[in-house]
Amino acid sequence: MNDLTPVQTQEAQTAAEACGRAPVGLLAELTHKCPLQCPYCSNPVELERANTELTTAEWQSVMRQAADLGVLQIHLSGGEPTARRDLEDIVQVASEVGLYTNLITAGVLLTKERLAKLKDLGLDHVQLSIQDVDDANAERISAYKGGLQKKRDVGRWVKELDMPLTVNAPLHRANIENLPNIIDFAVELGAGRIEVAHVQYYAWALKNRSALMPSRAQVIKTAHIVEEAKERLKGIMTFDFVVPDYYAKTPKPCMGGWGRGIMNVTPSGRVLPCHAAETLPGLEFDNVRDKTLREIWINGQAFQKYRGFEWMQDPCKTCPKREFDFGGCRCQAFAMTGDATNVDPACSLSPIHQDFVQIAEEASKQEAPAFVYRRMAPVKAKAPAEA
Ligand code: SF4
Ligand code: SF4
Repeated sequence: MNDLTPVQTQEAQTAAEACGRAPVGLLAELTHKCPLQCPYCSNPVELERANTELTTAEWQSVMRQAADLGVLQIHLSGGEPTARRDLEDIVQVASEVGLYTNLITAGVLLTKERLAKLKDLGLDHVQLSIQDVDDANAERISAYKGGLQKKRDVGRWVKELDMPLTVNAPLHRANIENLPNIIDFAVELGAGRIEVAHVQYYAWALKNRSALMPSRAQVIKTAHIVEEAKERLKGIMTFDFVVPDYYAKTPKPCMGGWGRGIMNVTPSGRVLPCHAAETLPGLEFDNVRDKTLREIWINGQAFQKYRGFEWMQDPCKTCPKREFDFGGCRCQAFAMTGDATNVDPACSLSPIHQDFVQIAEEASKQEAPAFVYRRMAPVKAKAPAEA
């Protein structure tokens, strides 16, 4: 990987003083357009339409402001970021201002020429998502034909262009038994890193919870497979392994703590502390069309709301682990209890933890229902009076 070249300015120092630190990463959701329709997509159920997207100049301004603020890494995401024809113009500016650029892509729209051009303009890293390594199952999960062969091509091009590659493998009950083959596939592609990430149940995945939830025994088996592969592939490929919250005893430090390290900019410029934050009531999301990233990071109501520890209730308020897990996920706490200040039910100290576990166990035992595919809602016809 290339060296990171953070831009340290007075502005970055001020932001760091005000908020403890400047954000390390910014997730730029360039568009919600995507030719795939994965039922676990982390995009919101209400997808943003192309006619609301930030312009090229607006995204370039976001890149400059991010660097000034002290952001180190830009994750160019979507939807499918290569669906933006101006991706090259955005990458060029991000690279010029010293940001480490990571393209998170399903790969199916890329050509080798385009990838080479992106590299020439400064793209540092490619993160290629896969649905499965069985062609028919990959097509079923993504509702897209021929995707796996295209991913093989993209993986090969990335290596031919001598770029670092991460394979991103979301895991769920429809592909979990193929994990050993998924790991082999990543090695064959020459990936230096694999993210084996059990699906987290927000947005589309929450809609598809019963279709996606594996059993506890399956999850434990994946942990053993990853441990064995980690050992066997030392020096060849590194692993990031994310377990599903439903079978955990303590929650993960969601986003590394609210408003602590990550900003998420949606296609239309709304700035969120996490990609699921729009599911929470009472938050006001500022837009990069109206305010600077710096103002939003330091003073944005949505960033302030759950930053630090003041908002916590017991058991988190007095728990020594709060410094490490920040009480878990606000969005999951709200989705399961109706109050975002409650302890994340993934924690064994949550009064509803057992119910939470039971939901997963029962869902995994039932026959998997059909997927609800990620699709843009049809535009509603206007009533004559509105037209
Ligand atoms: S998860 Fe699937 S549908 Fe969602 S953006 Fe990625 S490839 Fe597209
Ligand atoms: S009580 Fe709160 S801070 Fe303590 S382990 Fe559980 S979620 Fe973390």
